Amino acid sequence: KVRVRFAPSPTGPLHIGGVRTALFNYLFAKKHGGDFVLRIEDTDQNRYVEGAEDYIIKSLDWCGMPFDEGPGKNEKFGPYRQSERKHLYRQYADDLIASGNAYYAFDTAEQLDAERKGHEAEGKTFIYNWHNREKGRLVNSLTLSPEETKAKIEAGDDYVIRFKSPQDETLHLKDIIRGNIKIDTNILDDKVLFKSDGMPTYHLANIVDDHLMEITHVIRGEEWLPSLALHQLLYNAFGWKAPEFAHLPLILKPTGKGKLSKRDGDKMGFPVFPLEYNAADGSVSRGYKEDGYFPEAVVNFLAFLGWNPGTEQEIFSLEQLISDFDLEKVHKAGARFDPDKTKWFNHHYMQQQLDLDLATQFKAIQPELAEMDVNYIALVVGLIKERATFVSDFWNLSHFFFTTPTSFDEKASKKALKEGTADILNKVIALVNATEDFTVENLQTEIKGWITTNEIGFGKVMMPLRLALVGALQGPDVFDIMFMIGKAETVKRIENLVR
Ligand code: GLU
Repeated sequence: KVRVRFAPSPTGPLHIGGVRTALFNYLFAKKHGGDFVLRIEDTDQNRYVEGAEDYIIKSLDWCGMPFDEGPGKNEKFGPYRQSERKHLYRQYADDLIASGNAYYAFDTAEQLDAERKGHEAEGKTFIYNWHNREKGRLVNSLTLSPEETKAKIEAGDDYVIRFKSPQDETLHLKDIIRGNIKIDTNILDDKVLFKSDGMPTYHLANIVDDHLMEITHVIRGEEWLPSLALHQLLYNAFGWKAPEFAHLPLILKPTGKGKLSKRDGDKMGFPVFPLEYNAADGSVSRGYKEDGYFPEAVVNFLAFLGWNPGTEQEIFSLEQLISDFDLEKVHKAGARFDPDKTKWFNHHYMQQQLDLDLATQFKAIQPELAEMDVNYIALVVGLIKERATFVSDFWNLSHFFFTTPTSFDEKASKKALKEGTADILNKVIALVNATEDFTVENLQTEIKGWITTNEIGFGKVMMPLRLALVGALQGPDVFDIMFMIGKAETVKRIENLVR
């Protein structure tokens, strides 16, 4: 059975890159009838941020991709927070020492620093591996005798446990998206697996948990590709079957140059977080939700960051994504983030929403609508939503359905008001008053009929009429507006302009 995990570290709000990783995991799991596991990788106590886990879970829920297993839910492989699994990891590090795949290292930070600087001075990079580890300057259980090592441990000296990466081997790695990758083990350093504070590092905890949680596919960001060799070596050293790997492409800035960063959003005026995030330092990060994006739109545009169906189709519901998504179709080139496209998706999903639902959202954010009948608002929404991207655009597009214009746009007035306009509008008032059954069709027949028979020219009538009703030369169909605001209000507005 397919089992995937989303394994964020709770170090702050989940950036859309993280949401994209979660989405691809979710789609892959659902497509194969598998499980989508949430694991919280909180072994780095220094970077732990209160509230981040809660934020991650709320974000997944908002996007419509809840996890199947995780903290507080179906805990059959639990616990799912690494801090609650602490007791488990040490034994695995010890096993690796016993099998000769890991060793104790006692080097202090100062010693390592000196080593690094010494190498730099000679124009070399310091790699803690077979190049150096047995040279005697480094202090570890490979250079010390077993007795010396034991004595140091018993004396309470600080140590870490490092992985012993092999010398002169070529590793053959496989990635679903990138194909076969060859790595020379001589370039690998002996990564720390277990820290002096008694906690495992990401590498050890991640592999142990993926194994214990029976994860079949690891789908994660490209930034983890350099760790793949070590991870494969760890699986080999434990004698475990490794899961399959897929490293998702980077998300690039809108310019296409460089990786999208958390700060780009504020700089360029678009959110990079799913939900608004209030940090402990008082700073607030904008969220897609609060900026008026529909989760369907966010999911749709995220799906296209690295994947496409190979056809012209761009609109995909979550269900369609589940059925069409394929890891093999994910490309390895960086995916450019396009905020305009994101808006285009939002516009599209807005048209799919029920007018009544949109009206409810509109009413909730617009104080002027507090007393308005939501059914009337829904009719208005139906007339204007085609030109809106966000619910917050509605008021500008529709205020004249709710309030009488108090001023007339200067430029528009110049364009619409000509000699003879007053006479024309007075005639229109008469026609409106004479229209007994006040429907769009009747109004159209009356006014358009009169224009045609008298050969007046549509612009000469319709422009000032629109100006009177809207206060500007914008808005939906004039007859729709008249019908919506009613006969008395229509007459009143035209009189306001004529006078
Ligand atoms: N905790 C890692 C992260 O924050 C998980 C990487 C992985 O999926 O292996 O991205």
